[in-house]
Amino acid sequence: MRILLRTFIVPLIFMCLPWSLSAAQPVLQSIRFTPGDNVLHLEARLNQPAIVHIFRLQHPTRIVLDFDGVRMKASLKKTGLPLGGVYGMRYGYPQKGVLRLVLDVDKTIRFQHRSSIKSAELRLDLLPFAAHLPAAAAVSSTKNPAAKTAEPPRTMVVVIDPGHGGHDPGARGLAGTREKDIVLAIAKKLANEINQAPGMKAVLTRAGDYFVPLRGRLHRARKDRGDLFISIHADSWFDHDATGASAYTLSRHGATSEAARWLAGRENDSELAGVNLRELGDQSAVLRSVLIDLAQTATIQDSVHLGSAVLQPLGSVAGLHYRHVEQAPFMVLKSPDIPSVLIETGFLSNVKEELRLRDPAYQTALARAIFSGVSAYLKKYPPARV
Ligand SMILES: [Zn+2]
Repeated sequence: MRILLRTFIVPLIFMCLPWSLSAAQPVLQSIRFTPGDNVLHLEARLNQPAIVHIFRLQHPTRIVLDFDGVRMKASLKKTGLPLGGVYGMRYGYPQKGVLRLVLDVDKTIRFQHRSSIKSAELRLDLLPFAAHLPAAAAVSSTKNPAAKTAEPPRTMVVVIDPGHGGHDPGARGLAGTREKDIVLAIAKKLANEINQAPGMKAVLTRAGDYFVPLRGRLHRARKDRGDLFISIHADSWFDHDATGASAYTLSRHGATSEAARWLAGRENDSELAGVNLRELGDQSAVLRSVLIDLAQTATIQDSVHLGSAVLQPLGSVAGLHYRHVEQAPFMVLKSPDIPSVLIETGFLSNVKEELRLRDPAYQTALARAIFSGVSAYLKKYPPARV
């Protein structure tokens, strides 16, 4: 059971560098909760910066803050809890040298980290997941009094990536169908569905028959502040009997090497899961790599949820080649903080499926199935970024 529970850990972000070389043990001096508009602010003050790991646990829902090498001096008597979906708070030392604060929260509550990297003050915003839903929905699903002031919905940007293009035709069917053509057609239909949905916007990584390098596709997703990334492909296989759609997310192996590349390149001068990587000095390469790794781990979990949500409706239209989301080190899935999924819509190497994939009505049905999976995912797992 303990092992099972661990898999629910979504490590998001942690803070505070040990800048100071002071030998004195860091002390947690005070904890304060301040309600704001649709948010509860938590401020934990230390006498010096320390490393803090923050994550969310389920069953029951808790937000856990592990302070490395910190001693507890703060009083939990005057926190004013329960407040804003946070029912209570306790602390302990689960292992030597680790101070653990546990917030018992409503399952609708997520956290967002707000501190500066060099600060001895840890600031956390506790918000309802449903903050972007209509206020009535947010209030009914949480005891958070602040949820009454839910903000208007933010437009969700879905980046659609039609595979191949230009001099790269992709897979080829027996009847001569080129993957690059049918995936572009499906992608445009999907963009249409998305653009018609309120609060959603589609961005295409290519809108015609031209070549876009794989990293260029990732850059596009980043530049357009994509919330989700969906790459559309069609398979080919030497076994002509193979049929059905499948969904892929990034495997951990691929993730690690891309994190290393982020470290080496200039791409890391941006914000990742709420942390401005520019604020990390050159000396903090290790911390930077851990940050990217944590963000990527959480993103892969989100991607698997997204893939599963898409597979369900897709299966009823196309049949499934694999019943579960597969993992592979595909380059286009390597954004550390954008849930990304690659969909193989079917097999061009199968005569029947090739004919179906050429059919505009079938392409529309595929696009609608993918769209309904995306909407289901966004409803269930609204992006944390606001
Ligand atoms: Zn392809």
